Amino acid sequence: MMARPGKALVICLPSAGLAMGLAYGLEWLLDAPISRAGLLSSALVPIIIGMPVIFFIEGQSIKLKNAIMTLDLVREEAEERAKRDSMTGLYNHQHFMEKIHEGGRRDDGSLIILDIDHFKNINDSYGHAQGDEALIRVVAAVRKAVRANDVVGRIGGEEFAVFLLDANKEEARKVAARIRQTVENIEFIPEDGVKAPLTVSVGVAMKNEMDNVVGAMKLADMRMYKAKQSGRNQVVDSGLEAEVFDLARGTQG
Ligand code: GH3
Ligand code: MG
Ligand code: MG
Repeated sequence: MMARPGKALVICLPSAGLAMGLAYGLEWLLDAPISRAGLLSSALVPIIIGMPVIFFIEGQSIKLKNAIMTLDLVREEAEERAKRDSMTGLYNHQHFMEKIHEGGRRDDGSLIILDIDHFKNINDSYGHAQGDEALIRVVAAVRKAVRANDVVGRIGGEEFAVFLLDANKEEARKVAARIRQTVENIEFIPEDGVKAPLTVSVGVAMKNEMDNVVGAMKLADMRMYKAKQSGRNQVVDSGLEAEVFDLARGTQG
């Protein structure tokens, strides 16, 4: 954006007119004749001085506006980055919890928690870099299996959560089964000729099974652990409500 000459003229021309009016006024008041050259210079001085000054001020104000816009953009980007996990691009634990509190005001909603099975073995057998690669592949599979408006977060090292804003139990079950299957189908080849299995254990809970979304998250977490105990690579979507209620009572009391 550049300083506009039109705007400078709008300010300078009335000033020139005012200066000429003043010169005529003084001529009449003091009864002292004014020369044409004097009249002309009184009209030109405001233009000659005013135009560059106005250009300079407007230029500075444009620079300031641009700097403020850039700062706003940088701040927004930094805020967005702070919400996400840098490796996977998913919401981090803290922001995921904020999102589910926002979404928790609605009546419906389900939570899915999943944890990669025997993930330590991948790191131990093929190295940390291959472990990172496996993690990224699992996240891509999860994203593929969920819907565009579902909220996905990385809530631990190799643990993820999905909040399905408006899903009933049947829909949540389907999404959880799809996640488990899509991860199982990943062709992960960390070394030439070696295919390493990637699977997840999944827990599902409906928001309305508990008093609130945080309770539902706890229930989904306990069901995920149940899936681990039952042999891994499976979905658990019922049971353990009483245990979670007991837990909530214990922490409140
Ligand atoms: P389980 O089936 O019981 O969940 O077993 P597990 O081996 O997956 O679980 P465990 O908690 O024993 O190990 C998790 C491992 O995940 C340990 C940790 O080093 C690894 N891990 C966590 N975050 C990352 C990461 O960002 N990159 C890599 N490469 N490894 C990670
Ligand atoms: Mg694990
Ligand atoms: Mg874990």
